[in-house]
Amino acid sequence: MIAALLACLLTVPFASTSDDPPNLVVIIADDLGYADVGFNGCQDIPTPHIDRIAAEGVRFTDGYVTSAVCGPSRAGLITGRYQHRFGSSLNPTIDPTVHNGVPRDELTIAEMLRPAGYTSMAVGKWHLGTFPGLRPRERGFDEFYGFLSGGHDYFAENLTLEDLSEVRKQWDWYRTKLLHNGERVATEAYLTDELSDAAADFVDRAHDGPFFLYLAYNAPHTPMQATEEYLARFPELEGRRKVYAAMVSAMDDGIGRVLDALDRQGVADNTFVVFLSDNGGARNNASSNDPLRGFKRELFEGGVRVPLAMRWPVQLPAGAVYEHPMTSLDIAATIAAAAGEGVASNPDKPLDGVDIRPFVNGRTTDRPYDAVYWWVPNHDEVAIRVGDSKAIEFRGKENQDKPERFLFDLAADASETSNTADREPTAALELIERVRRWTETMVPPAYPALGSWDPTKQ
Ligand code: CA
Repeated sequence: MIAALLACLLTVPFASTSDDPPNLVVIIADDLGYADVGFNGCQDIPTPHIDRIAAEGVRFTDGYVTSAVCGPSRAGLITGRYQHRFGSSLNPTIDPTVHNGVPRDELTIAEMLRPAGYTSMAVGKWHLGTFPGLRPRERGFDEFYGFLSGGHDYFAENLTLEDLSEVRKQWDWYRTKLLHNGERVATEAYLTDELSDAAADFVDRAHDGPFFLYLAYNAPHTPMQATEEYLARFPELEGRRKVYAAMVSAMDDGIGRVLDALDRQGVADNTFVVFLSDNGGARNNASSNDPLRGFKRELFEGGVRVPLAMRWPVQLPAGAVYEHPMTSLDIAATIAAAAGEGVASNPDKPLDGVDIRPFVNGRTTDRPYDAVYWWVPNHDEVAIRVGDSKAIEFRGKENQDKPERFLFDLAADASETSNTADREPTAALELIERVRRWTETMVPPAYPALGSWDPTKQ
């Protein structure tokens, strides 16, 4: 132990301590499959840098997001509150003339940290509002480099629109030039590389800290696009899986550059690094959620249980595995608790997440959550996990009288193959009634959904 401490002191002479306000780096992949990182057993796509976060920190086997699609999941993460509390339940329209994101009376993590002296930058995909007042630099971030839409074209030569005002048909918002703070800029590099370099550059500039880097890749979300450099790494793969592998590999390279910047600046020890996907792998990007059932958009585990790892050397153990459910809501709760005095909070809007530290460090063996809830209001779908029991109910327009109901024991059946709702109808009903009561305390969707904006009809 003493030798290890000495080695640490010798190699990192100015290492920060656990008393300083920590830096926060949140890295979000987009539609990445549960099984598509090395730390969850991926065989065909090496992810050494993502795996480093888990190896030097904690791997969560049961890490959840609060929605099976992009926008609502990010709204929950960035506020630390179930997004249904403020109507961010659907993927929002990109129409910049419609109020379409997290309401201004909710605090983002950047807004929480700003009064405590943090500098914050958002890089990549926003998808939390294009309406004036809802954009990154109006939501606590000092800097923004990225795009406001829910997905984007990866090739620089395709980014030809000067602004959303030039969008003439659906999905053309994938082709806007990138925004650097308030300005549209021409770029040359593959989008994932562009975002990685901006993120590493921010660490190099902001390391006097404390800082918050929100690095939201759109990879490996569609469109399936990769450069020859990355495709050439996978000669044994074919078709969409080959392109997907190249897209994930580019992201992993970039995460390596961000981790290198933390090392280079001597701030890695007291930087809380979180890696996760915003939802499960999608059906259309050749991802794998094995052994989980389902994909993005579904409330089976494959839609909401995601690859999740956290590293924070002065606070968390290295090489640990945590198996109780944790959620993306915990990022805000943990950094708010750790950043100390000056962090903004709203007593009327308490955070839903937990400070992960006592749980992961073994100071308590309790489960962090009595229950984890999911709700898809436009499809009338709910799900709940209590202990290892998971219940799901689909009650769409066609089956109001006879809803489709599922009950699983995730401890024995993580793949959700054995539905026991018919055999244990009372247990299933109790759980469904519990999540239904919870939804009644939430608010309905507050904006039109993605795809409702048809620029050809303007
Ligand atoms: Ca997504």
